[in-house]
Formats: sequence, structure tokens, C-alpha cells
Amino acid sequence: MAALRLSSRLALVTGGGSGIGRAVCQRFAKEGATVAVVDIDKGAAEETLRTLPSDQQQHVLFVTDVTSPEHVHSLMADIQARFSRPPCVAVNCAGITADRLLLKMESDAFDQVLKVNLKGTFLVTQAVAKALVASGAEKGSIINVGSIVGKVGNVGQANYTASKAGVVALTKTSAKELARFGIRCNTILPGFIDTPMAGKVPQKVLDKVLQLVPMGRLGDPTGGLFM
Ligand code: NAP
Repeated sequence: MAALRLSSRLALVTGGGSGIGRAVCQRFAKEGATVAVVDIDKGAAEETLRTLPSDQQQHVLFVTDVTSPEHVHSLMADIQARFSRPPCVAVNCAGITADRLLLKMESDAFDQVLKVNLKGTFLVTQAVAKALVASGAEKGSIINVGSIVGKVGNVGQANYTASKAGVVALTKTSAKELARFGIRCNTILPGFIDTPMAGKVPQKVLDKVLQLVPMGRLGDPTGGLFM
């Protein structure tokens, strides 16, 4: 059997209670990582935790609002108290939508989406990077979840597309600043994936999107690889 690629790694996954974040937690645990499942929704994070294979690893959940600097600070302190080291892999999956056409979008809906998707990603990236640098760790990997619509735009998502374009720029700058500490930063840009978030998209919009997808279906968050 091939060696587990992530054995002895500690990984933090925000938005780990649902959708893509849950699938990442499952895949990481399967690859041997110990996973810190981070989500604002305790019940959802508990559900994820229950699905993780745990032969060797002791996965833990943390209820955290990634928009709060205090929460993110406590999260890092709690993780290091529990594991005596910072996570060497962090995946920023926590995200929300609040779709409305630009002409009708409330300014609060714009702020809230930017706050979770972009500021939350900044706060967690900064906290993980600070902890890695302080610990003298020689390498780390921060993976931010952007979106293809941050590149091409999408009707009804002025706030969401702006936040995801921001995530790309934030990640590029983080990569330039953190490379000298051995920390890699990357963004992935998923298309439409079958999760509770995509479930909020009206069917007529999904039908249009699916016409552009060669497979004619939404992506599977597990990539069809897990279980
Ligand atoms: P999801 O199923 O809705 O999962 C997102 C998780 O993040 C939920 O558990 C959510 O909790 C949590 N969350 C929301 N606000 C938070 C906060 N302030 N602090 C901590 N956790 C918070 O969404 P998903 O589809 O898996 O999306 C995951 C990531 O992929 C997001 O960044 C999304 O923008 C991105 N993405 C998704 C798609 C897609 O088609 N699904 C495509 C491209 C990119 P609540 O449920 O309580 O809000």
C-alpha cells in the first residue's frame, strides 16, 4: 500500500462543516492528516467529525467565526495548546453568498460577503502564517478557495465575485511575502459544485451554467474519489 501522503501533518480546514470543506476534511484524514475542522456551525462540524476515519489521528472541531479577529486568535491558541504545533496546512473554505442583482443589492449584503469570503481568508492566512513563522516550521501550505466566477463575473453576484477576485490577489501577495518562510500560498477556482451553497442557486440559472459544462452536471465535492 502506498504511504499516506499527509501522515503526521496537522491540517486546518475552515468551512469544514459542509460541502467542499467537509470533502477536504475527509480526504485529508484519509491521507493520514490530523484535521482541525473549523466552522461557525457546531452541529455541521460535529457531523463532519463523525465521518472522518480515525485509526491513528485525533481530529478536533473548533467553532469559529472567521470574520472575528478574536475568534481566529483563540482558534490558533487553542490548536497550539491541543497539538503543541501550528497547522502546516490550512484550507480556507468558509464562504457565503447573498445574491442579488447589482441594482438591488443592499450595501450590508455586499459587506457581509466580503467579510466572510475575503476578510475571513485574510485573518486565517495571517494567523496561520504568524504561528508557522514563530514556531520555526520550515514549510507550510495555505490553500484558498476562490471561484471561477471571480474571474469571469456572474449575474447576481457582484459581492461574491468581487470577494473571490480579492482572494486571488490576497493569495498572490501572501505567496510573495511568505515564500521566504517556506510557506506556499495557492488559490483554487472551482466551477459549480454540488453543495448546499449551489443549492441556493435558482434552477434556471443552474440550467444555463450546466450548458457550459462538458459533463452536463455539477461537480462532485469529493471528486468521486472518497469512499
Ligand atoms: P457550503 O456548503 O455552504 O459550506 C460553507 C461552510 O462555511 C458552511 O458550513 C458555513 O456555515 C461555513 N461558514 C459560513 N460563514 C462562516 C464563518 N463566518 N466562519 C466560519 N465558517 C463559516 O459551501 P461550499 O459550496 O462547500 O463552499 C465552500 C467554498 O467553496 C466557499 O468559499 C465557496 O465560495 C467556494 N466555492 C463554491 C462553489 C460551489 O459551486 N459550491 C464554487 C466555487 C467556489 P453556514 O452553513 O452556517 O453558513
